Amino acid sequence: MDSLDAFARGKLSSLEAAALRRDLVPTHRLQGVRVERGGRELISFSCNDYLGLAQDPRVKAAAIAAVERYGTGAGASRLVTGDHPLLGQLERALARHKGAEAGLVFGSGYLTNIGVTPALVGRGDLVLLDALSHACMFAGAKLSGAEVGIFRHNDLEDLAGRLAGRHAGVGRTLVLTERVFSMDGDRAPVAEMNALAASHDAWLMVDDAHGLGVIEPEARAPLEMGTLSKALGSYGGYLCASAPVVDLLKSRARSFVYTTGLPPASAAAALAALEILEAEPDRCSRPLALARQFTEAMGLPLAESAIVPVIVGASSRALALSQALQAHGFLVVAIRPPTVPEGQARLRLAFSAAHAEAEVDAVAHALKPLLETIR
Ligand SMILES: *Cc1c(COP(=O)(O)O)cnc(C)c1O
Repeated sequence: MDSLDAFARGKLSSLEAAALRRDLVPTHRLQGVRVERGGRELISFSCNDYLGLAQDPRVKAAAIAAVERYGTGAGASRLVTGDHPLLGQLERALARHKGAEAGLVFGSGYLTNIGVTPALVGRGDLVLLDALSHACMFAGAKLSGAEVGIFRHNDLEDLAGRLAGRHAGVGRTLVLTERVFSMDGDRAPVAEMNALAASHDAWLMVDDAHGLGVIEPEARAPLEMGTLSKALGSYGGYLCASAPVVDLLKSRARSFVYTTGLPPASAAAALAALEILEAEPDRCSRPLALARQFTEAMGLPLAESAIVPVIVGASSRALALSQALQAHGFLVVAIRPPTVPEGQARLRLAFSAAHAEAEVDAVAHALKPLLETIR
């Protein structure tokens, strides 16, 4: 065996020993929240398709029509020949929805975050991140070459202290947070952070991956990024900002310039989904209502978003609970370090407009006794 395979096997066995090895499980998404795994049909609480739009006939029809008209792939970077007209249309729709001057669509949310930050800050600058920020926000900060500081989760005082305590040589400052935290389901105080950032001439970027379509935002940041892959049921990422910022990114965000444009079908699906999202407020209020039904049934703090964590501690316990729920017909994936901090492995439930109230009651009813028996 050569050293490469030996390296991989060694790493895998230490991951396995720590219950941190990850493997793919083929999952067939059926109608609504139903999925099929290993020949079994399960009710999923682990999809981010919050509004059930990935299966919506109107969204599917828009994607099919785009394939018929524009083909399957963009064929080149958008700056070359990959800028088919649906992308501009989607960008205008996103900007309008967000009340921003302009929008820019990227290949994914991950690509958006690793492109935007390095285009706005670099060596000599500072990025301040909420401690629970998504991995791709940390990746963008690291790629930028700027100094990276981490403030305590949702702690305005800690952030204020770090902004006030910057050393004299620091150039620009970018502050990064999430509107809805992906593994905790709580929300950032965006209005207060906007004011704080503005008073220190720092720029705030909010990751709205889990907010769009689910949470009515109380404030908008000057930089709002997100994904087309969650409530919009498609694929891709975006940034909404002022026109000069978006124009700068078209020239300077490397994950925009040096990558192929989004496939036309993804843009068409996102556009159709955005229209539905704006036309059907009852659909948008449902995930949060169902999450609250669940937290009430479980005796947990009232849900702030469509995401509810049930923190159970050890990775092995989270896996055992997930297995046991699967035996009851529910798919609730265990989330382990390094996605979450050490000792805070959890079940993460995501509620969708496509869940029935009875399904929410049923998963709570199944989970409650399991938490007593699986220790
Ligand atoms: C899912 C997610 C992303 C990445 O979006 P993709 O389009 O899936 O790459 C970024 N930030 C947060 C908070 C997310 O949850």
